[in-house]
Amino acid sequence: MYPQAHQEPHGSGIGARLNWLRAAVLGANDGVVSTAGLVVGVAGATGDRGALLTAGLAGLLAGSMSMAAGEYVSVSTQRDSEQAALATEKQELQEAPEAELVELTGLLEGKGLSRDVAREAALQLTERDALRAHAVVELGINPDDLTNPWHAAGASFLAFTVGALLPLLAIVLPPAPLRLTVTVLAVLAALALTGWWSARLGDAAVGRAVLRNMCGGAVAMGVTYAAGALLGAAGV
Ligand SMILES: [Zn+2]
Repeated sequence: MYPQAHQEPHGSGIGARLNWLRAAVLGANDGVVSTAGLVVGVAGATGDRGALLTAGLAGLLAGSMSMAAGEYVSVSTQRDSEQAALATEKQELQEAPEAELVELTGLLEGKGLSRDVAREAALQLTERDALRAHAVVELGINPDDLTNPWHAAGASFLAFTVGALLPLLAIVLPPAPLRLTVTVLAVLAALALTGWWSARLGDAAVGRAVLRNMCGGAVAMGVTYAAGALLGAAGV
């Protein structure tokens, strides 16, 4: 309801923060799994450190930019439609203020207020800031808190990069004979952490989420390693 939402300065504060956190964890998880699959696959074919570094770095950049571009497009589209809805609302308020007052009264009644109270509340809200009231009650958006597509893109880029750096460093830094072991262990540990964190954020069963996440990463590394080893053995 509008009066409650108004007490919270940033509208959907907690929900928005949770969404950001969830997106960050998922982005980091994505960076870990896809880069791990890539470098382990290359390691199946060659022991050349330069090749591993090149593949890992290219995967990191390609993945983080693809994530950022996707996020930018999706948030821009959402923002465009929110701004279009606000513009329509503004016009309706100018052209038919009485009909909009009736509409707002009806919406507040629908939230459980009696007709008289709803009418009084609608009058007060309209007097204070009509557009804001309609944005929050009717459209469910906070006009002061539209997501910035550049922020969303930057956050995705950063989250993926942080995740991707782990398998990249784990495959490049250790001496050759330890490379794969270190990478697999580091990746499984990281996936246990992101699985645990996203389960906590989503109020899901932690044990199963961790196991599922680690299995996903293990399968990805197993498949790409096998493919790399086959190609390497065939001398491609
Ligand atoms: Zn309206």
